[in-house]
Amino acid sequence: MTDYIDLNFQGVPNTIATAVLKGPDGVALVDPGPTSCLGALNAGLAALGIGLDQVRHVLLTHIHLDHAGASGTLAALNPGVTVWVHERGARHMADPRRLIESATRLYGDMMDTLWGEFLAVAEPQLRSLTGGERIEVAGRRLEVAYTPGHASHHVSYFDAGAGVAYCGDVAGIRIGGSPFVMAPTPPPDIDLALWRASVDTVRAWRPETLFLTHFGPHGGADAHLDALLERLDAHAALARRLRATPLDEAGREQAFAAEVARDLREHLDDASARAYELAVPPDHCYRGLARYWSKQEQGAAS
Ligand SMILES: [Zn+2]
Repeated sequence: MTDYIDLNFQGVPNTIATAVLKGPDGVALVDPGPTSCLGALNAGLAALGIGLDQVRHVLLTHIHLDHAGASGTLAALNPGVTVWVHERGARHMADPRRLIESATRLYGDMMDTLWGEFLAVAEPQLRSLTGGERIEVAGRRLEVAYTPGHASHHVSYFDAGAGVAYCGDVAGIRIGGSPFVMAPTPPPDIDLALWRASVDTVRAWRPETLFLTHFGPHGGADAHLDALLERLDAHAALARRLRATPLDEAGREQAFAAEVARDLREHLDDASARAYELAVPPDHCYRGLARYWSKQEQGAAS
């Protein structure tokens, strides 16, 4: 049983989940979400009988704003909090200016509405990970694995005792009871080969439960991961085909988003489809894949 909190992102349920690990020596949160959801996080913790002062650890799968935005605020509110993050993400948590700049290119004037503020984490409260560690938090032992592909600084955590793998975005998006698994592919780090290898890493844990930020716990890991890779390949192929058309980039983005919208609504009701699109905007998915293919072509040409 994994406790988690629905952050009710932008008033939409089942979009962003924070996992809550409760132990005798305090609480660990996996991906606390953005600062815009701090009220929901607080209320969710209170409903579990937890105060912010009991939170000892924030485990980040990666530093994208929908996962990590509130870390600095939580660390500032409670100096007893330690924030764990892959070494490639650590400097951006200590100084988020470049991260915010890059996110602003995607989200423009929606930044504040969507995410709220992104405070730096004080360096003494940061712990860098490389993957391969075993860490003890909230009375349990977690294995850490480096799982790039979605982001170059992505890690996953495995609680072998409970059989739960906390996968962030690398195991995709799956909302509600549907078997529909979507691959979130925003810029700038998408790498298909690394992503496939990371799926192998997660699979090798033989988890009973995959915990996804978008959204919550799912059983049947093998079938889930197969479905993820199938749709990742299909979306990558679609982006590649669109890049060969005479459309401009805006037109390609639109065509990609229209095809994803059609696919989603073929399998899901409209409200669920919209939750997937809120968890990762399909036009961003095109941009991430287009950037990947452009890097591949440059690599092949040089
Ligand atoms: Zn992400």
